[in-house]
Amino acid sequence: MRLLQRHLCMIAMSAAMAASAQAAPLVEPTLHIKPAASGAGRVALTLDACGGQTDTRILSALVENKIPATIFVTGIWLKRNAAAVEIMRAHPDLFELENHGGRHIPAVDTPQKIYGIKSAGSPEAVLAEVESGAAALARTGEPAPKWFRGATAEYSPSAIAMIRKLGFKIAGFSINGDGGSLLGAKETTRRIAAAKDGDVIIAHINQPTHAAGEGVVQGLLALKDKGMTFVRLDDADGTGNHGTTD
Ligand SMILES: [Zn+2]
Repeated sequence: MRLLQRHLCMIAMSAAMAASAQAAPLVEPTLHIKPAASGAGRVALTLDACGGQTDTRILSALVENKIPATIFVTGIWLKRNAAAVEIMRAHPDLFELENHGGRHIPAVDTPQKIYGIKSAGSPEAVLAEVESGAAALARTGEPAPKWFRGATAEYSPSAIAMIRKLGFKIAGFSINGDGGSLLGAKETTRRIAAAKDGDVIIAHINQPTHAAGEGVVQGLLALKDKGMTFVRLDDADGTGNHGTTD
């Protein structure tokens, strides 16, 4: 009996050791677009729709001010936000919809938690998250997505290689505009208004009750006032690190 217990204990220990040996540090890739040839500069605005609802303050401001944006949507969000999807599809010149996964599960192929969210945990689960996100977009009649951004925007290097093999580029960013939509309006405005030529901004469009959304609008209007041009990822040469785009 004691021998069996020791044996089980050894199995548990070696499994834990194997898991920690496999778990390479996670990466949070950056992304920049090619700077403008002339003028005040250009930036790419990317907005995540993780789950939840639609921040109509942001959506209306984009439509009214003709600001193009790349929206990273999940399967969950698409299901619950038909009215917002309708508005985006009515303005194909402004909105590019890309893949934020089927169920908003981090694209990390070892079991762990990132910002309190459980990772996919295996290569198969990363694959399912990426493919179900693309399938959800296809069901809405959208063109096939070319970009993927995983939940939390953190990845294991092996997951990055796998997603690239599926044919997606991975969308990092260079300016964290709203700190996961948890920042105040003032700080969000300040961060977004500080964007420079070639920057890729990340913020959220799914938290209508958060103060950050007001800051997103004010920051974008400040950039527009400076004469900054906005481009979508499909109109720009995005270059990321950690093998995310090349
Ligand atoms: Zn998200």
